Amino acid sequence: MHPAERVLLGPGPSPVPQRVLRALAAPTLGHLDPQYLAIMDEVCELLRQVFRTRNALTFPVSGTGMAGMECAAVNLVEPGDEVIIGVNGVFGTRMKDVMERCGAVVHALEAPWGETFSAAQVAAAFAAHPRARLLGIVHAETSTGAHQPLEGLAAIARAHDALLLVDAVTSLGGHELRVDDWEIDAIYSGTQKCLSCPPGLSPVSFGPRALARMDARKTKVQSWYLDVSMLRKYYSGGGGGRVYHHTAPINMTYALHEALAIVLEEGLEARIARHAAMHQRLRRGLEALGLNYIPSRSLHTLNCIRIPEGADDAGVRRRLLDEYGIEIGAGLGPMAGKAWRIGLMGHGATLRNVDLVLAALGNCLGRSAAST
Ligand SMILES: *Cc1c(COP(=O)(O)O)cnc(C)c1O
Repeated sequence: MHPAERVLLGPGPSPVPQRVLRALAAPTLGHLDPQYLAIMDEVCELLRQVFRTRNALTFPVSGTGMAGMECAAVNLVEPGDEVIIGVNGVFGTRMKDVMERCGAVVHALEAPWGETFSAAQVAAAFAAHPRARLLGIVHAETSTGAHQPLEGLAAIARAHDALLLVDAVTSLGGHELRVDDWEIDAIYSGTQKCLSCPPGLSPVSFGPRALARMDARKTKVQSWYLDVSMLRKYYSGGGGGRVYHHTAPINMTYALHEALAIVLEEGLEARIARHAAMHQRLRRGLEALGLNYIPSRSLHTLNCIRIPEGADDAGVRRRLLDEYGIEIGAGLGPMAGKAWRIGLMGHGATLRNVDLVLAALGNCLGRSAAST
């Protein structure tokens, strides 16, 4: 087994720094060892800083980003609950599916792929469905590269006594995200996108309104593994009150600790500014090559461009991988064959990578910035 060193510029995973890989190789502790519990407590505190929240119930769910999505859904929704879900790409579609599996009556708020929702559209959805108890929305729709503004959505949800649930898998650590200031009630993310850690954990945070909703449940959470009422006894047990639920992924916790330390050493503001600057540099370069962005409000962390007329989608991606060791993403769903997705996430969002992918893509397309 000799995996190659790729330049990971797809929709995730992103490149993992050596420091994080070394952390993975540290000695495995027991999951109830006081040393390990101290490391886990620190991870939860580092996550609070990165999420910009004081929510006590902030921890890494065992599993990838989808586990965080399921965790939020199974705990916040009971059969028969009405919910409004923003559907404008793969991940909104999945959130709708997950909610339906929880027995929710889902009112899909739809927008064309690549578009985002305005506050007025969200308000209209609540006007049409005033009994909705939750609004679920994707901050960074990785399938389309669209950047959903979140400011103002909490006020609309609160006016209807509904919770605001946010998918921040591709924004945490790369885009501005303020859980407390934006009054987000529940949020989940993933480790392998802008945190530049391998996949395997899903940071989540639940605020007081979400906890009250869980405490008022009439039915048991149907997932044993993801039941927060049990998980919280382990993650926020403290003072010897820890209760075994499942064995935490010990070495992944070390990796996340190191990845979060790197994020905070750089500083959240500086990191977000770096993602913005690298996105602007990539955008200028792509446009000079004659390539256009699909979403009107583009993410900095995921750049979704239209495949030019006559270009061989799979052939170009294959050459990037084989000849340059660069991974970029294909289009998903209705964008299959029509879009390429270039991720600039975390450790991958560097000037070297931007200029490398521009040069490589230009060569594969037989175009140069000067000639177009
Ligand atoms: C990647 C991603 C997920 C799913 O995460 P996995 O780690 O693949 O389970 C969910 N939502 C969004 C927006 C994502 O980009």
